[in-house]
Amino acid sequence: MDYLPIFIQLRGSPAVVVGGGNVALRKVDLLLKAGARVTVIAPKLHDELRALASKGQLDYLALEFQPHHLDGTSLVIAATDSREVNAAVSAAAKARRLPINVVDDPELSTFIFPAIIDRSPVVVAVGSSGNSPVLARRVRQQIEALLPARLGALARFVGDRRNEVKRALAPEQRRPFWERIIGGIVGSRVLAGDENDASAKFQSELAADTESTGDDRIGEVYLIGAGPGDPDLLTLRAVQLLQQADVVLYDRLVSDAVLDRARRDAQRVFVGKETGGDHHATQARIHELLVQYAKRGLRVARLKGGDPFIFGRGGEEIEALREHGVPYVVVPGITAALGAAAAASIPLTHRRLAQSVTFAAGHALDDETLDWRSLGLPHHTVVFYMGVAQMPRIVARLTEAGASPDHPAALIERGSLADQRVIRGTLGNIVELARAHDVQPPALLIVGEVASLAKGDNDVLAAVEAARTSASESV
Ligand code: SAH
Repeated sequence: MDYLPIFIQLRGSPAVVVGGGNVALRKVDLLLKAGARVTVIAPKLHDELRALASKGQLDYLALEFQPHHLDGTSLVIAATDSREVNAAVSAAAKARRLPINVVDDPELSTFIFPAIIDRSPVVVAVGSSGNSPVLARRVRQQIEALLPARLGALARFVGDRRNEVKRALAPEQRRPFWERIIGGIVGSRVLAGDENDASAKFQSELAADTESTGDDRIGEVYLIGAGPGDPDLLTLRAVQLLQQADVVLYDRLVSDAVLDRARRDAQRVFVGKETGGDHHATQARIHELLVQYAKRGLRVARLKGGDPFIFGRGGEEIEALREHGVPYVVVPGITAALGAAAAASIPLTHRRLAQSVTFAAGHALDDETLDWRSLGLPHHTVVFYMGVAQMPRIVARLTEAGASPDHPAALIERGSLADQRVIRGTLGNIVELARAHDVQPPALLIVGEVASLAKGDNDVLAAVEAARTSASESV
């Protein structure tokens, strides 16, 4: 190890920054965040530094640097664009045994700044011992993606209760207790932003431990939108919760690549509805499983394709959980319409082409519940889920209600997945095109003028076909 990573308490301590430009400003910001009393020494000053000085947030000496400026300080940063001045600051600091950082110059420095993730009071610092700040920043980005945004709130939640736990539990009980609190339901309630609930659960956990009857602890359910298939379209929270779930219940629409993001040793349970199966019975069985696992104290991830609340029966599942007093968290996902539209370059709304959009279920067409005339109007986009089998009927309804056969339509099969296909056409020919290309579920039908913007794979096919014919003609 070339450097010892430490966290320095600077609150109220003097620190000197030599230099008055942009780089100095960034370091001053950091020092102020850490509560230091900052003096800036520079003949000229950046506007923002000047503003800080005039607000009294830092002291400013409009002077050329002199070694005695460092007398009595506790930490020094040199951020001028002159190597000579920087070297003089470094020498003066070393002579006084003060920690010195010369920006971008490890040789003149006795300490360096890491790349920082600030979820105060949790702070992560990443360094490359001066070898590559860019690499350190990349590592920081990767770690950052794994850390919940409310990590700091969790640290404060725990910090506020440390003494209480100290009083209530024997030393050997404390660590396992905290492990369970932080990694379990209380932790995830805090991370989900529900501190009241977390607080109540914390109290009952603590009471259970004090009475050492902890067996009736209840787990929780994470209702997670898995997006349209591409695992990179999962939300950060979805990945975090997948990483901590003990059991994962998943549907047919959840791709293997998404499932791979779950904890390696989590139990995986397929609960998909087989086509032709009894949907009602399967759904009731899912409710039963969710409740059973949670009542065993497990953390259950319920992964659903797309978003749980768009044609996902998420509403019924949370009703069942509520009925049984099982706590849950809902994590939104990218619904198929959004994933497929992005994949096919179809803007669902567009200043000129569409001012509104409808998501409709195309499988159980109850003619009374949909207003076919308004769905087929120009300037409106409608996305039909589950509509492959019913496509002829959908198209007939729309045209009977007044939509033109030239009205653009596009079919997106397996949107966002590696083998996705986009078929572009019109109400007049989309049924035939679907048949010709043997489109299979899962697929979405998008109807509206915006569909004319789709990047259709059949256009490419047609172009290839045309090229082939003209090539053979020219032989
Ligand atoms: N809750 C899901 C929808 C479930 S209904 C969501 O928010 O996306 C199932 C229907 O979603 C399928 O019949 C199909 O129409 C659509 N669908 C799901 N994944 C899809 C994908 N990758 N590409 C195209 N359509 C998809």
